[in-house]
Amino acid sequence: MLTARRTVPIRGFSPRRSFLEVTDMAVKIADIEACTGCSACTEVCPYEVLVVREEKVVVAQPEECVECGACVDECPNEVLELEEEE
Ligand code: SF4
Ligand code: SF4
Repeated sequence: MLTARRTVPIRGFSPRRSFLEVTDMAVKIADIEACTGCSACTEVCPYEVLVVREEKVVVAQPEECVECGACVDECPNEVLELEEEE
């Protein structure tokens, strides 16, 4: 799937992230039923993109996601995914 890329200013000053290229997609929930609410993904995310509410993961701040893939790798149940660009 093609995704439009854009450059957006990031809230708060950070030399590394002040202007960061991000996709419109960010991290996605592929299988919410498989989520156990273990919080492994929220603990590994450097930017507090994910939260667990009522024992299910929620992408609370998609605009902060840098698509590093750490949460995808950490999840034991393959709940999360990053869409590949074509
Ligand atoms: S891909 Fe990286 S920045 Fe995005 S939610 Fe996962 S750990 Fe956080
Ligand atoms: S690591 Fe996976 S199973 Fe655990 S809360 Fe995150 S998405 Fe759900």
